[in-house]
Amino acid sequence: MPAPMSEPRSWRVAVVGSGPSAFYTAEALLKADPAVAVDLFDRLPVPFGLVRGGVAPDHQNIKGVVKVYNKIAANPGFRFFGNVRIGRDLQVADLAAHYHQIVYAFGCESDTKLGVAGEELAGVYAATDFVGWYNGHPDHRQHRFDLQEARSVALVGNGNVAMDVARVLLASPDHLAPTDIAGHALATLRTSQVREVILLGRRGPAQAAFSPKEIEEISELPDVDVVVSAADGHVDPLSKAWLEKEGARSQQRNAEFLQAQVALGEGQKPKKLRCRFLVGPTELHGESGRLRSVRVQHMELVADADGTPRPKATGKTEDIRVDLLFKAIGYRGVPCPGVPFDDKKGIVPNVDGRVVEKVGGAVRPGHYTAGWCKRGPTGLIGTNSLDAKATVDAMKADRAAGSMLAPTATDVTTLLRARGIDSVSWADWQRLDAWEVAQGQKVGKLREKLVSIDEMMQRIRALRG
Ligand code: NAP
Repeated sequence: MPAPMSEPRSWRVAVVGSGPSAFYTAEALLKADPAVAVDLFDRLPVPFGLVRGGVAPDHQNIKGVVKVYNKIAANPGFRFFGNVRIGRDLQVADLAAHYHQIVYAFGCESDTKLGVAGEELAGVYAATDFVGWYNGHPDHRQHRFDLQEARSVALVGNGNVAMDVARVLLASPDHLAPTDIAGHALATLRTSQVREVILLGRRGPAQAAFSPKEIEEISELPDVDVVVSAADGHVDPLSKAWLEKEGARSQQRNAEFLQAQVALGEGQKPKKLRCRFLVGPTELHGESGRLRSVRVQHMELVADADGTPRPKATGKTEDIRVDLLFKAIGYRGVPCPGVPFDDKKGIVPNVDGRVVEKVGGAVRPGHYTAGWCKRGPTGLIGTNSLDAKATVDAMKADRAAGSMLAPTATDVTTLLRARGIDSVSWADWQRLDAWEVAQGQKVGKLREKLVSIDEMMQRIRALRG
């Protein structure tokens, strides 16, 4: 349990979530007024959201951002309450009774469905489950991925999550072994027979959603060729004109890279990432309940009203034989009890960070949102910094205008204690952090993560001494 506040502060903010957007919200608040009290709540005993549970284990340079979060957490106005689920241990009304403002920064924890026949077949997986599984997220540790008998894998979508999934599926397990990858995932990947990942993009090479760095990184893996056929790498005249007029530098670089791969052909390496474009899955076919092939429809790009190339079905279809299929077509928000939810977009409805009762409805004073649950699952980690600052600007303006909640109690630790909730403090987390790192060192890894909430809590209690 975090220590009670030494003295009640006149500006108290609860932040639900402890991923990047939560930390950037805390940072902006503490910069705005060092006397503010910011309490971060997470349902898991451990902080950092997708930095711990989403960023790929071989991308430790990206995970290095926790150094910034550790500095924020060292601020005397900051407290962490892990193992506290809003809607179960505390209700939104409890937060409103203790804080002047509440910020929902709980991200997007689920996956987007394809909505095609056969999605329920064995061998069809959500990339979000795979990512959580290899990162040791407690919600995903129970998943099983049948990599032992699969050679050919379809991967739908070509964003950076698809890049992470492709890299983890194709890289040598030795590349991942020294990282903080979950032990169960490394053991399964060591038995994997996957030799080919077929990336299915519904638009063309000029509209690929991956960052150039990510696709280039795969081509640099010692065992993997990135293979693009001449037909797939072809940039149509509409896209050429669009690239020249308004294409981002990253899109130009992607198109150039993909065309260079066409020239390289099939390559000599034992594993292949095959980049297909202008294909969208329409049906998944199986035998005895298990996936056998994916039917894709071929697309062409046509200009929409503002000239942007959009995919349109040509009527031609193709069946691609695969053993497994991963859907990497985006994350989706999960509603939090007591918090308005826009089911269509999968986010907390808001106007510039101020929560509204429903889409187009009235502002709910004192309630705000930041990060993916505010704007949807887009952007890199740093994008959440500007996003959080914008929300905090709205909070500062409302505070100056006297529009805040009217809490009747000062310190939530009293309520948590009365309810018998064993919340995890920042000091608890720091001990677990050091313990996980030490466990990893024993086996040549950066960290050995605990992967269940029970194990985490038992270890935290033992480390409290
Ligand atoms: P994303 O970048 O939005 O990519 C989603 C992909 O799914 C796109 O290719 C999209 O195609 C496709 N798609 C969506 N619906 C589809 C459908 N019904 N049928 C076929 N394809 C469909 O999302 P993400 O990969 O989940 O990544 C989320 C965010 O996290 C992104 O901003 C990403 O850059 C970031 N991220 C960054 C890193 C990193 O920096 N290393 C790693 C992971 C994630 P269209 O483009 O045609 O819509």
